[in-house]
Amino acid sequence: MARRPLIAGNWKMNGLLADSLADTLATLMRKKQDWPFEMVVCPPFTLLHYLGKTIAGSGIALGAQDCHIKESGAHTGDISPLMLKDVGCTYVILGHSERRMDHGEGDSLIMAKAKAALAAGLKVILCIGETEAERDSGKTLEVNQTQLKGSMPVEVEAADTDLVIAYEPVWAIGTGRTPTDREIQEVHAFIRKELIALIGTAADSVRLLYGGSMKPGNAGGILALPDVDGGLIGGASLKAEDFWAIAQQSPAL
Ligand code: PEP
Repeated sequence: MARRPLIAGNWKMNGLLADSLADTLATLMRKKQDWPFEMVVCPPFTLLHYLGKTIAGSGIALGAQDCHIKESGAHTGDISPLMLKDVGCTYVILGHSERRMDHGEGDSLIMAKAKAALAAGLKVILCIGETEAERDSGKTLEVNQTQLKGSMPVEVEAADTDLVIAYEPVWAIGTGRTPTDREIQEVHAFIRKELIALIGTAADSVRLLYGGSMKPGNAGGILALPDVDGGLIGGASLKAEDFWAIAQQSPAL
């Protein structure tokens, strides 16, 4: 089945109200509405409200970079899935390696967050990926299998359409290094096979994104791979023209 490519921008802890990134992107996107790809930008929490207004009507979706497992309550500093819906988000990134490392998030917490987000009606971009040491010791597939099984909520009804998996080798994030196209396809094909084992035919509609130093110069080859359905883009999503140039290399449906 045809999976509409998803081009997702992860701004991480970057962006101020004074920046013009959101405005530039919205202007580019408004040029034409029938793009074969879907686009989502995930700014820091502080910009969600402003960005939501800026991109309204542009066709770009709004996403966040994390959420709590509860709807509300005594959880200082946290943001709930309900709050993200309230501010206009349709997506949330969960399990990013920087949250796994900076905040000690493990698979079971990530799964709980994914369940809460899906239950609140958000689409989830669930990140998995091996470290350099794990790749060097030949554990790439094993690590991705463990993270997928441990963090993906298989029993959720919406698992097929509302769940997106992002394969992000940790050693490729922000480093300018990427696996070869062949290596990316190998891991994506493996993840697709694992998804079929977990959720059956619904796996056919789950989009698998590649993330890690994707740039306008390497996006065409990566996005054309058979089991790659888009990208999760960090650094290059902070330059509207680069992000846009990547998106435009998505193969037509
Ligand atoms: C990311 O952090 O999700 C990412 C892919 O970053 P970058 O594109 O900068 O490697």
